[in-house]
Amino acid sequence: MTVVASHESELEVELTVDAVRAAFRAWLTDNAATMDEFRSITGELDEVFAKLCTLQRLLFNAGWLRLGWPARVSGLGGTILLRGVIVEELAAAGYPPPFSFTAMEVLAPAVVDHATPELSAEMIPRLLRGDDFWCQGFSEPGAGSDLGAISTRAVDDGDNWRVTGQKLWTSWASYSNRCLLIVRTGAQDSAHRGLTALFVDMDTPGLTVRPYVSMTGDAEFAELFFDDAIVPKSRTLGVVDGGWNVAMSILGYERGAAAWQRQAWMMARLNDLLRAGKPSARSVGETYEMIHALRLSSRRTMRVLGGGAPAGPAASIDKLMLSTAEQSLFDLALATVPDVLFADDAETQNWRRDILYSRAASIYGGAAEVQRNIIAQRLLNLPRAR
Ligand SMILES: Cc1cc2nc3c(=O)[nH]c(=O)nc-3n(C[C@H](O)[C@H](O)[C@H](O)COP(=O)(O)OP(=O)(O)OC[C@H]3O[C@@H](n4cnc5c(N)ncnc54)[C@H](O)[C@@H]3O)c2cc1C
Repeated sequence: MTVVASHESELEVELTVDAVRAAFRAWLTDNAATMDEFRSITGELDEVFAKLCTLQRLLFNAGWLRLGWPARVSGLGGTILLRGVIVEELAAAGYPPPFSFTAMEVLAPAVVDHATPELSAEMIPRLLRGDDFWCQGFSEPGAGSDLGAISTRAVDDGDNWRVTGQKLWTSWASYSNRCLLIVRTGAQDSAHRGLTALFVDMDTPGLTVRPYVSMTGDAEFAELFFDDAIVPKSRTLGVVDGGWNVAMSILGYERGAAAWQRQAWMMARLNDLLRAGKPSARSVGETYEMIHALRLSSRRTMRVLGGGAPAGPAASIDKLMLSTAEQSLFDLALATVPDVLFADDAETQNWRRDILYSRAASIYGGAAEVQRNIIAQRLLNLPRAR
């Protein structure tokens, strides 16, 4: 029996899916009074994030958010499957995911895979504890689906990189203090071979963050302008000109592990919907099937990742199923929740935000058409379209 124990956390649990599930369920029951304030979090974004951050710290200090990470980054050991259990149980018990959950499943595993041991030991604990928030600086005005077209440039300047260019659609950049940035270090025509990944502090001189509001009404996005911003070379992730591998590993986690989080949350939202209105039984059944199919497909991907292998092109199936299920769920909410377009109470506003955000599910992390191309070409070996 593998048992973890730590002097910092009281947590002692066998590192298996079943044991962690049972222990976390028991902890949630025992701590229901403390956790109650996190059940429904509303208000201005600043307040919401502050509260989610408190939740994250609580879970970290109790040891739960350290499961599934190696000891060298303050983890308690075990695989990604243990993280999947925590997120699923949290959602099933009616709690929101802590703020950094997406960065934790999308960016952090790639940092563990590619950063120097010193850099990951410094950065990952700060993220898990909720001290840091990270954003993802990939997309540019001329490079979205085609990441090989990135033109933000990093020029060699001794011990530093000197970065110039523009990013956009950077989610939650105004709330983040670090950015995982993909830049061009090779020649302009080096395509995917000339990219490098950097870990950049958001208060770097020469970096300007210009937020903008999405259709949900939140200032979720920002444009990032780099004007001779100096980034130490010690913040390079992986090898110079090897940024494509880092980006692909991040997209693999985004399409794979993040889909697992999303299905857990969607299942909880489907249950909420049954309380909020009277959806037709047939539509509920169809949506449930889609979410459950996503769960099974994502479970397979989680097991691949848990075995230490990359998610591979099969994660595109998860991403496609995610967007289909999410849009079906919130189309159903649109048809079901009373006065969903105009009512101003917090619960209806939440439904409205989720309905609008679901439109983005077939865009972020690689648009649905791009996922279909990957499935067609790399899994089904179909010829490329001319
Ligand atoms: C909610 C949300 C959050 C986001 N967060 C971030 C973030 O944090 N960081 C970040 O870097 N980016 C982020 N993005 C940007 C996102 O990654 C891009 O929008 C996405 O990759 C598509 O790129 P694009 O918008 O440039 O569209 P384009 O690449 O211009 O695509 C336009 C259309 O053409 C289609 N298309 C493109 N190429 C092909 C092809 N080869 N075959 C068939 N069809 C094709 C696309 O499917 C799409 O329908 C976010 C986007 C959204 C909606």
